[in-house]
Amino acid sequence: MDAKTALLVIDVQRDFCAGGALAVPDGDAVVPIVNALARHYPTVIVTQDWHPANHISFASQHDGRAPFETITLGYGEQILWPDHCVMGSAGAALHSALEIPHAALILRKGSNRAIDSYSAFLEADRATKTGLDGYLTSRGITQIDLCGLATDYCVAWSALDARRFGFEARVIEPACRAIDLAGSLDAAWRAMQAAGVARAGAV
Ligand SMILES: [Zn+2]
Repeated sequence: MDAKTALLVIDVQRDFCAGGALAVPDGDAVVPIVNALARHYPTVIVTQDWHPANHISFASQHDGRAPFETITLGYGEQILWPDHCVMGSAGAALHSALEIPHAALILRKGSNRAIDSYSAFLEADRATKTGLDGYLTSRGITQIDLCGLATDYCVAWSALDARRFGFEARVIEPACRAIDLAGSLDAAWRAMQAAGVARAGAV
């Protein structure tokens, strides 16, 4: 892969894999695929969902609410999740079989108690930047390939924001798995297609 293309590995963490607090179906399957994929890229960025224990996206923080319900917050609609990826916890760790020693940056997102952050670029208020756009631009990156968990949430939102910030974006589908909540996977692919995100079967 050329020096202008970076691989963004989204949230391959224990809590999103088998036995985790918010396990994505077949999530573990991406690990060897991502490991092999990453060897083709000189620049790899790895993200971690990384929340305080009282994070606003946790159903446990809202009386009478259950996981996977949707509520309206100041910044818009928010799906309530089981407690997951609590900063410093075992579940927040990267999958133990993930092997990307040359990863240049590990970016943690969702640390703001009051705002969720599916995207690696912008928090859910759609205004607060993580700084990733500046990091990539300053390194001369123009194309971003994405993989990881989950296709329809953090991968899709990151891909859409990559386009928003002017990068070419491509989702490597075999290296992703989805949650697929109430049609969310189809909706995510439609939104990505409309935004000019490419869908790749392989690299
Ligand atoms: Zn989260």
